[in-house]
Amino acid sequence: MNDVWIEIANKIKKLCPEKDFLPLHEPTFVGNEINYVSDCINTGWVSSVGKYVDDFERKLAEYIGVKRAIAVVNGTAALHISLKIAGVQPNDEVLIPSLTFVATGNAVTYCGAIPHFVDVSRITLGLDPIKLEAYLKDIVVLKNNECINKYTGRIIKAVVPMHTFGHPVDIDRLLEICNRYNIVVVEDAAESLGSYYKGVHTGNYGKASAMSFNGNKIITTGGGGAVLTNDEKLADYAKHLTTTAKVPHRWKYEHDEIGYNYRMPNINAALGCAQLDNIDCFLEKKRKLALKYFEVIKDYDGVKLFFETSFAKSNYWLQTLIIEDNQYDIDDVLNVLNDKGVMARPIWTPLHKLQPFKNYPRADLIETEKLQFQIVNIPSSPYLGE
Ligand SMILES: *Cc1c(COP(=O)(O)O)cnc(C)c1O
Repeated sequence: MNDVWIEIANKIKKLCPEKDFLPLHEPTFVGNEINYVSDCINTGWVSSVGKYVDDFERKLAEYIGVKRAIAVVNGTAALHISLKIAGVQPNDEVLIPSLTFVATGNAVTYCGAIPHFVDVSRITLGLDPIKLEAYLKDIVVLKNNECINKYTGRIIKAVVPMHTFGHPVDIDRLLEICNRYNIVVVEDAAESLGSYYKGVHTGNYGKASAMSFNGNKIITTGGGGAVLTNDEKLADYAKHLTTTAKVPHRWKYEHDEIGYNYRMPNINAALGCAQLDNIDCFLEKKRKLALKYFEVIKDYDGVKLFFETSFAKSNYWLQTLIIEDNQYDIDDVLNVLNDKGVMARPIWTPLHKLQPFKNYPRADLIETEKLQFQIVNIPSSPYLGE
């Protein structure tokens, strides 16, 4: 079995023979990054206000086709604020996939709310609306138009679908169910800039949605994120909350509630403006890379490359191998690939297995439990698709 994976590693290495080591995802700086960042330094506008913040918010909203984008310090902060403006209150329950990055769960707890874990679908790797519906039927009652968990007595306020590795969940189905149960949808779109569901960019479907521009994402601002919403009032509120809830005045320091210092610095937004100029080129190369990997993998039994579904256009943020049931031991696969200089990673440890989350409520997590030992992410930087 190791021979197979040594062979696969060697074929992957051939995508970029100049490098001895292929990282999982490297940022690409081929545009105006240096010019825009230098402009911030030369003019002194490096910090919490400046024209690049405004430009980045405008360009980002335009690209996504959403009414408003509010730039913040990172994707986790964006999630925290998205949940807050969507109305999540302390002691509410929020349904989230267990198979997600820890930030999804953390942000729920920052609101004083309770993460409640649900299962994912093999078709999208994201939240499974069909299983969710069956589960809700079992555990909730509607009282005064509120969705109540009959076992805990708490309100189930929101659900957070996460578009795993850029692959959109089945959003229409999810929205239909959530409308019926009066549950608010907040998208964790941290990984899905450039991904579309039935032709509409992800992040447009939730009451609010969160993006991330961390160094390993599709575009980077160093660290950064954005709250997205089609509701102007919520957008103004998000801006207010993320800028210390200061009441506008020529000189007075007046703050009308507990706010957050979450705004994205101008120097980071400058980087983001330059990155956004090149996003179409990054996406094209990542799509080409998926086809190259398909060519490498198609001759081997027991492993498949994960592809977008019929309703989705994925950004292919992280290329994903699925090891079919018990065909290979995932630790062996990870050992061989990493030893050969092909950086490879498993999917995250499901949140319900992490110490801080292990006592929270959960549905059955059958697919999550299986998929955690079947998913291997392989090098995904755009240059590999050239
Ligand atoms: C990256 C990521 C985040 C958080 O983004 P940061 O900018 O690192 O805080 C949240 N959720 C998911 C699924 C992510 O991949």
